[in-house]
Amino acid sequence: MLQSLTRSLTYIKDLIRIQSYEVLKNKKMITTDILIIGAGPTGLFTVFEAGLLKLRCHLIDALPQAGGQCSEIYPKKPIYDIPAYPEILAGDLTHKLMEQIKQFEPGFTLGERAETIDKQEDGTFIVTTNKGTEHHAKIVAIAGGLGSFEPRKPPIPNIADFEDKGVEYIIRDPEFYRNKKVVISGGGDSALDWSIFLTDVASSVTLIHRRNEFRGALDSVDKVQELKDAGKITMITPAEVKGIVGTDKVTGVSVVKKGEEPVTINTDHFIPLFGLSPKLGPIANWGLEIEKNAIKVDNSLDYQTNIPGIYAIGDVNTYPGKLKLILCGFHEATLMCQSAYKRIFPDKKYVMKYTTVGGVEGFDGTKKEAPKAVVKKIE
Ligand SMILES: Cc1cc2nc3c(=O)[nH]c(=O)nc-3n(C[C@H](O)[C@H](O)[C@H](O)COP(=O)(O)OP(=O)(O)OC[C@H]3O[C@@H](n4cnc5c(N)ncnc54)[C@H](O)[C@@H]3O)c2cc1C
Repeated sequence: MLQSLTRSLTYIKDLIRIQSYEVLKNKKMITTDILIIGAGPTGLFTVFEAGLLKLRCHLIDALPQAGGQCSEIYPKKPIYDIPAYPEILAGDLTHKLMEQIKQFEPGFTLGERAETIDKQEDGTFIVTTNKGTEHHAKIVAIAGGLGSFEPRKPPIPNIADFEDKGVEYIIRDPEFYRNKKVVISGGGDSALDWSIFLTDVASSVTLIHRRNEFRGALDSVDKVQELKDAGKITMITPAEVKGIVGTDKVTGVSVVKKGEEPVTINTDHFIPLFGLSPKLGPIANWGLEIEKNAIKVDNSLDYQTNIPGIYAIGDVNTYPGKLKLILCGFHEATLMCQSAYKRIFPDKKYVMKYTTVGGVEGFDGTKKEAPKAVVKKIE
């Protein structure tokens, strides 16, 4: 909680005007051209593409900071498939995106969940959050990713008593575990990758899984095997954590190995990494066409939903051949903004210009321009 707050404050200080704070003070309706629900990488990049078209954006996110999955789930993990970045930490990608959109002065309503939507007679929308903040927009772009983050919790009776007292479902900052004893449970990529990563940070790492087989990437499984052989990871399989030991904080976990009596493993932290259950949340009741927990869109054109004026981009949408990748979200955001422009200005003709040619004119008065070509005189 404290780390999330610190991160939010850094964003506020460094980069943005948090319009919602002003609005809450003045009890005004926030108005914007494009209201973006979800401040993950897709939502953030939408601000840039909209800005090139002189459209203003406001973002709502249920989390207290921008970045979506990148900042909430894996800020310290390197991503290798962002074009032109051979390697970039997910947290740094968020910072770069925030830097890139700063000139377009996006507004943010953070820590609030978009709850209801009302289409107005003139085709515009009013979106209200769970805290009652109202937003009026010509266009709504849902970039809600996996939806509200709900970690899958193991069925351990007293686990809720130890949440944030040694039980964490998401690793936000690996440094938090420096020189601490850590028990991780789970059999997927997150459990494997974090076990590997924490061997360099924690004083001990124990990985517990109810099967002998893991569902993660082969090279991660091989790496864990290597670290186990080197005595850097203790593996207990097939086994399950059945109880938490401690009074006001975790001091151990009770582990049952198949066919054996329970044993107590001493630990400072117990981190069950069983994934996040994707929940669209209130958006699922907005009358949008939903398929397998995702919003159906017209990918042959502009990623519009079945309700004209509402688009769905990034991980939250589905169409034939959909890939849940950051670069696909960027592409979808770009095409969506072009369509939104045509919807807002049906009579205007927009001619796309390369940024190298047209430059980038911010709403804050800044202008970035490529230097004019120097033509050398030939004698
Ligand atoms: C461990 C891991 C590793 C990954 N590695 C890669 C990789 O190497 N390369 C790659 O391309 N992709 C990777 N991904 C996938 C990538 O993170 C996603 O494709 C990307 O985050 C999708 O961006 P998004 O903006 O569409 O959604 P998200 O990042 O999910 O952001 C959506 C945001 O919407 C908010 N939200 C949802 N509903 C509401 C609501 N009703 N009101 C307010 N806010 C709401 C959420 O709080 C969230 O912040 C990885 C994912 C994980 C979990």
